[in-house]
Amino acid sequence: MPERKFDTLILGQGLAGSALAWALINAGQRVCVIDDGHRSSSSMVAAGLINPLAGLRFNRRPEVADWLSAAEHWYADLARQFGQPLLHPLPMLRLFRSAEQRRFYHRRVQDPASRGLIGPTFDSGHCPEPIAAPFGGFTQQRTGYVDLPLLLATLHDWLAARDALLPGELPPGQIEPDARGVSARVGAHRLRAERLVFCDGARARTNPWFRALPLVPEKGEILNIASGEWRPRHIINGAYWLVPLASGELRLGATHEHGRIDAEISAAAREELLAALHALRPEAGMQRITRQQAGIRPGSSDRYPLIGRHPEQHRLWVFNGFGARGALIIPWYAQRLAAHLHGGAALPAEADIRRFA
Ligand SMILES: Cc1cc2nc3c(=O)[nH]c(=O)nc-3n(C[C@H](O)[C@H](O)[C@H](O)COP(=O)(O)OP(=O)(O)OC[C@H]3O[C@@H](n4cnc5c(N)ncnc54)[C@H](O)[C@@H]3O)c2cc1C
Repeated sequence: MPERKFDTLILGQGLAGSALAWALINAGQRVCVIDDGHRSSSSMVAAGLINPLAGLRFNRRPEVADWLSAAEHWYADLARQFGQPLLHPLPMLRLFRSAEQRRFYHRRVQDPASRGLIGPTFDSGHCPEPIAAPFGGFTQQRTGYVDLPLLLATLHDWLAARDALLPGELPPGQIEPDARGVSARVGAHRLRAERLVFCDGARARTNPWFRALPLVPEKGEILNIASGEWRPRHIINGAYWLVPLASGELRLGATHEHGRIDAEISAAAREELLAALHALRPEAGMQRITRQQAGIRPGSSDRYPLIGRHPEQHRLWVFNGFGARGALIIPWYAQRLAAHLHGGAALPAEADIRRFA
């Protein structure tokens, strides 16, 4: 088979590889995305929550305005182009986990930059949903969830229609960079490109090219629950979250486990999540679980992405480390990396892997 030539090879069609391919192809590049059918995909498991004020202290990262506006625009562009909604905007109820947490709310609400993200508080007797909220909470705006499996399937077909997708596994050890480009072989296909970008998610921990990066994988499990009579109008977010899906089911998550890094579902996680649901709605009966999934979040030691060029092999790049908030931040960083590769724009310093040099 003759060698096929591209500007950029992308290893992985998770949300990261898909968003980067979209940005590069729309900038005029010839791109080939290689994926093994989502064998280890965090994106296919994730709830896709968009929450600009995550964490116990409702911290607002300085980059949040850029992240949020890039995400909202990108998902809306895709919805227009493909004629189906991908981002489902839904207000979020944040439940205080202690009386002390209210202090963090009051600090946040005084920050002018957080206006438009944060709504009023409620106390335990006036929760807008029929759930136990012993310390009260508040509503958050510009939140929602992205239907990531639908987005990946849509972009899979879009890439395939452009001859920009190659199904199969490409072990990183079989990639051969040299001074002028990079060669790879996937099955019978021989590929040659200017560069290759690794978007391989948590599998990067066994990738010999970027082994030195501080990738912090974290296992998580999620349940889907059959809809009963109760149809929440909000995403509910306390120690765990509950998302009313457009399909009518509820999604309940997530566990966080650092020690065991496999994608097996477990009885312990199922019990943990059901106990969390029981704490929210003690009077509700048994819930019927329709699905349980596990995946590995590809995090980093400082919770910022890992983006940049290999220090010695200049044809190899990494676009990874999106942790538990890929749905919010990947659209923005995909645009920044595409602008860097295509037009030489600077990479955002907080995400550039040179910060670990
Ligand atoms: C339980 C759970 C809940 C989550 N909830 C949320 C949430 O609510 N909001 C949010 O924003 N984020 C959430 N996340 C995190 C989110 O999934 C990630 O931030 C994001 O999806 C990472 O995307 P990625 O493309 O970097 O990696 P991945 O989605 O893992 O994609 C990597 C792809 O590369 C392929 N691949 C890897 N190596 C090779 C190879 N050698 N050859 C061929 N193909 C290869 C894999 O099969 C996969 O398809 C959650 C994650 C988990 C596990």
